[in-house]
Amino acid sequence: MSTTGNSGTSLWAAVSDRWRAFTQGRREWCCPTLRAQARVSLRQERIVGWDQRRLSQATILIAGAGGIGGEIGEGAVQKGAGCVHFADFDSVSPTNLNRQKFSSRDLWRNKALCVAREMARRGFMGTRLVAHPVAIQDVDIKKVRPDVIVCAVDNQIPSTRLQVCRLARQHSIPAVFTGVTPDASGGYVFIQKPGNACWNCALKPELLPAAAAATCPESPASVDILKVLGGLALYVVDTVLMDRPRDWNFWYVSLSTSGLGGPVFVSPRSECPICTGKGA
Ligand SMILES: [Zn+2]
Repeated sequence: MSTTGNSGTSLWAAVSDRWRAFTQGRREWCCPTLRAQARVSLRQERIVGWDQRRLSQATILIAGAGGIGGEIGEGAVQKGAGCVHFADFDSVSPTNLNRQKFSSRDLWRNKALCVAREMARRGFMGTRLVAHPVAIQDVDIKKVRPDVIVCAVDNQIPSTRLQVCRLARQHSIPAVFTGVTPDASGGYVFIQKPGNACWNCALKPELLPAAAAATCPESPASVDILKVLGGLALYVVDTVLMDRPRDWNFWYVSLSTSGLGGPVFVSPRSECPICTGKGA
């Protein structure tokens, strides 16, 4: 009886999952797997600490399919990650085309769907791509089961980073945060690991110009800073999944000045309401 009951439950769960995917518009693609796959990953496997097997089994959830999210997604499929999920409710506009992974045929279409479809052409090691055309808050984390979350949303809705910070802590999942300054001259990458400093701990004035967290619609934007931050974030994802070395967890990059930024290690703040669990 119990077997029948479980089967019924799992059948119902599968049907509701399909229905939810259909109503949310979730779609999937897959990169091709070259017959000579070993040749594709050969050079990167020579890097100290590299673990191609681990990477090929990893699931990466990227919140935000725009500038940085697209850079990170492209790198992840080129490296041969197992599965990359994109979550974004936004649609492509003409002002995105100077720096994001879209073409003119993508205009007004959902960013997560367009970038996942495009990334399926950029990888050659069988990466599965899943697009969620919804906000990260509406993605079922227990279903996706990511090994790492990348928060690559823009500054228009500042509370999203805080929500991802809480979500990642709640599920004990490492989370990488990125942000670009409104003048497009700098930005940061921060890795929040379970038990270590959270994203809220990193919002220190001595680490980050106040403007970096500001909301600024239609702010200046260029592809150069996205390449820098995307590369750093991709490296951080590797350090989470394999033994590539890293002795920092926060890096503010300024393109214009040597007086700001560089890699540092941020410790938990004793007064952080997230880390101490005392509200906020
Ligand atoms: Zn904290």
